[in-house]
Amino acid sequence: MGFFYQVMSDYYPEYYSHFRQFKSFFHSGVSILTYHKLGPRPVRVRLKGLYVSESLFKRQLNELRQSGLPLLNLDNLSDPAKQPNNGIIVTFDDGYENVFKYGLKHLVDEKVTAIQFILADQLGQANFWDAVLGEAPERLMSESQIREWLAAGQMIGSHGLRHSMLSKLSAAEAREEIYASKAKLEDLFGVEVSHFCYPYGDWSPAVMEYVSQAGYKTACTVERGTNHPDTPRYGLKRFTVRYPTRSLKVYWRRISSWWRGKYK
Ligand SMILES: [Zn+2]
Repeated sequence: MGFFYQVMSDYYPEYYSHFRQFKSFFHSGVSILTYHKLGPRPVRVRLKGLYVSESLFKRQLNELRQSGLPLLNLDNLSDPAKQPNNGIIVTFDDGYENVFKYGLKHLVDEKVTAIQFILADQLGQANFWDAVLGEAPERLMSESQIREWLAAGQMIGSHGLRHSMLSKLSAAEAREEIYASKAKLEDLFGVEVSHFCYPYGDWSPAVMEYVSQAGYKTACTVERGTNHPDTPRYGLKRFTVRYPTRSLKVYWRRISSWWRGKYK
């Protein structure tokens, strides 16, 4: 069985948009979905697919709910010995305000506990790290919006202080990003911040060690795959969710007909 999933993992589709394409993968372990932005796209956006429309988001949550797979949260992965065989976890990177605006009510309706990875030094500010690459500016949740997010039963994790490539920083700077963001979010919001997410998915063995020493229980990467009890807690795998573009739809059709032919 293990070997089968090992082989299968070579064929994980690149992006998630509909459940049907991921059905077999999602039964093989715990699947973590990575969202960024929800709702209408502003003009001149470069990475259009990272905006998932409100209606698609609603449909996706509904599909996941209907799938019968347990809807989990990252606390369920804190202890590998207690990790369920499979299940779905919803994560959001960067803490965008549009997730609060267009997503929160659907998460509450579908009883999904999602986590927003927050930049502790950027509350209520904008995605300056994308803007320097020419990306459209987007506001990040303010302190009061994060309080509402938490009051609605959702979770927060740390994405560091300033969206830095942690492996490129000095040890002292990397530790500061990892430790101070946790302390700051915990002091401000009065909740335990147990989960970390590496900005840009960038980590090194030393960075991973700091995350563990700082007292986080898990950390998310951008590597694709499902999570098993032997998956490193500070190297959890995820699937990026995208709004399907036309070429992506063609690609899906090709992959799924190949898959049906092979594993009928
Ligand atoms: Zn990020």
